[in-house]
Amino acid sequence: MIYLDSVASYPSLPEVDEILYSTAKNNFANPSSSHSLGEQGKELVEGAREAAADSIGALSSEVVFTSGATESNNLIIKGVILPLLLKGQKPHLITSILEHKCVLSISRYLESLGCEVTYLHPNSDGEIQPSIVKNAFRENTALVSIMHVNNELGTINPIAEIGEVCMSEKIPLHTDAAQSYLKLETDVDELNVDFMSLSSHKVGGPKGVGIAYIRDLKDLDISPVVHGAGQEFGLRGGTLPTPLIAAFGVAIQSFSKYYTLEKTNKLKRQLLEGLEKANIKYRINGGRNVIPSCISLTLSSSNIQALLRCNHASLALSQGSACSARSIEPSHVLTALNFDREQASKTLRISFSHKNTGEDIKILLDEIIKFTGN
Ligand SMILES: *Cc1c(COP(=O)(O)O)cnc(C)c1O
Repeated sequence: MIYLDSVASYPSLPEVDEILYSTAKNNFANPSSSHSLGEQGKELVEGAREAAADSIGALSSEVVFTSGATESNNLIIKGVILPLLLKGQKPHLITSILEHKCVLSISRYLESLGCEVTYLHPNSDGEIQPSIVKNAFRENTALVSIMHVNNELGTINPIAEIGEVCMSEKIPLHTDAAQSYLKLETDVDELNVDFMSLSSHKVGGPKGVGIAYIRDLKDLDISPVVHGAGQEFGLRGGTLPTPLIAAFGVAIQSFSKYYTLEKTNKLKRQLLEGLEKANIKYRINGGRNVIPSCISLTLSSSNIQALLRCNHASLALSQGSACSARSIEPSHVLTALNFDREQASKTLRISFSHKNTGEDIKILLDEIIKFTGN
């Protein structure tokens, strides 16, 4: 199986597998227990928390472990908006129509409770401009939530500039950085963000763990999404999954050993040069400012549906995002960019990891050529 879907989930790193198994076996105690085995678990958790905090320029006391970016988005967005709704206010949330599905469904839920929501539209590259964020501000704007890198196009949003605009009006900014973490600069001060969501399995760690970064957490009125026994600053109840967290910590420290821009760029170049050489019509979606690990291509003379069907067992590729790949509707991201059904069905998302070789790209190119008419 040639795996070209690292954006949906990055291959697990060897060190990650190792610590995942060893911790599950040896550190089964509850990390909140006060005996020494519990304390050893807590040490692993706190070590990972420090590694995570360091990696984004934050304090450990601002890092909350969650089950992943979906939960982090829930904790942050609902956590900020719900207390205001409960106080009888009518808060306003600004987000975009290109966000991950989970942010859109959180937004719709909050709308049903009386929150006002503005869904910003991107430019034709899929980018959200700081000026349109600024134009959307209202008296009651309580939060702006814009993703750092789009998971279908790879488009990079100008978060630092959006952050400046928000800061000048004292409006907090959240960014879902699941796709940019450890691949681009994601220092919370450089990006001017107050909240950030991260996911372990997008950087070679295990699924089921992630981070909500919350600036000055202890001074804020954030409501928990999972009420529990006081874990994670009272914001996220439940016994901490020591193996998942320890393994995520190792992924954070090891990822850059595996993932390099040089290698990823080379694979992308080989793919595009191969398409040129074979005279295959293609269009790159998402503009010029995209992350190297991912490319969205529309191949208008190729039968992409047949290619995917015939290579189901040998090539792991996506149309749109993994979450919507099984639905019959074109993805909400491609629809937002005015793709019709036909164009959407001829669009492929190809994403790379350190495991891919030039041979993988060659095989993919051969398949594309096979399914392209003249
Ligand atoms: C993968 C992804 C998520 C969901 O993360 P989970 O950890 O799987 O919940 C959210 N947002 C973006 C941009 C993603 O790429």
